Amino acid sequence: MTDFAATKAMFYLPDGMIYLDGNSLGPLPKATVARVERAVTAEWGEKVITGWNRAGWMAQPTELGDRIGRLIGAEPGHVVLGDTLSIKVYQALAAAIDLVPDRRVILTDSGNFPSDIYMAEGLIKSLGRGHELRVVDPEDVANHINDDLAVLMLTQVDYRTGRLHDMKALTAKAHAADAVTCWDLAHTAGAMAVDLQGCNADFAVGCTYKYLNAGPGAPAFIYVAPKHISSCQPALSGWLGHEAPFAFDLDYRPGTGIERMRVGTPSVLQMAALDASLDIWDQVDMDALRKASIALTERFIAGVEARCPQLTLASPRDPQARGSQVSFAFEDGYAAMQACIARNVIGDFRAPNIMRFGFCPLFIDAGDVDAAIDVIADVMGNRLWDDQTYKQVARVT
Ligand SMILES: *Cc1c(COP(=O)(O)O)cnc(C)c1O
Repeated sequence: MTDFAATKAMFYLPDGMIYLDGNSLGPLPKATVARVERAVTAEWGEKVITGWNRAGWMAQPTELGDRIGRLIGAEPGHVVLGDTLSIKVYQALAAAIDLVPDRRVILTDSGNFPSDIYMAEGLIKSLGRGHELRVVDPEDVANHINDDLAVLMLTQVDYRTGRLHDMKALTAKAHAADAVTCWDLAHTAGAMAVDLQGCNADFAVGCTYKYLNAGPGAPAFIYVAPKHISSCQPALSGWLGHEAPFAFDLDYRPGTGIERMRVGTPSVLQMAALDASLDIWDQVDMDALRKASIALTERFIAGVEARCPQLTLASPRDPQARGSQVSFAFEDGYAAMQACIARNVIGDFRAPNIMRFGFCPLFIDAGDVDAAIDVIADVMGNRLWDDQTYKQVARVT
């Protein structure tokens, strides 16, 4: 059992702010400040280049990978950190395509995050082997799994609506059709337990700056199932994925196991931030987290629906069918979200009309939910959003 009052005290949150955006950028764990300072001064400052060995920098991508592995049900030694999520999507998809050389169809859904789709399109173009990206409605994915499918590439929780795909059933169906699966866990890792092993997933990727609180620009992760790792050919064959980087051979040979999915120099300072946030995550019981998350989202939906008839629920009503976020559709959603943010209730807006709120029980409790509902009801009921200052669209929404 996890003590969520205790975890709440481990995060720094600005005074009076109700932060319902941990699904976009997780807040700062208090211990991160000293951990990053240590990495800067005692490691980089004092050890300089010897830090690669003496401060263990070179081993961080796999050591931290294993700690994330526990949260997503991965076998030890099968998760590595590095790069950004878009890059990891490219790597995973390229490796997956290679495993099914005779087929050309990659299936995804229209709720997938655009970067995943763009990376797939770019990869298909540079391969030049006639692959086709088929983008279907999220509800229709299962019906499109058939014998021409090479790779099923999905984001488990829809960034816009929070709709949750059934990873186990869809993976089983893809396997029955002799296809492989690539799962993006951007909105599941740290939001709920994931069971990659139990689902028999082939490849998975995710990021650490959302629910995992490692800060803006923190590295992504990639998982490759044990049955694929030794046949997996890295498309991004960087030197740190080489079998012997410091032999400086001119011929590339993939490294052992998951090490081959490394590319270049890891972001050591960001790894330090991740190390500190995982100190919290190491203690979290993922089943307790999911239970608490569902209680928060149910409370939020009930409160908003009772008091804001202007807003339409855009997330699945069944808590088992959604992640740890709640979205409402509203035509002037951008301005309405700006009005909430001006009153210290922080969520975000996703075009064309979605107001999105994320709930992480590590630092959000029922009192925060009630206070947020009061603000949203005030903004909606009194049309506080109907103000020119809230309608200027910023660069980041
Ligand atoms: C947040 C997110 C990304 C972002 O990718 P970066 O390369 O880290 O900027 C990609 N895919 C999904 C599904 C996401 O939710």
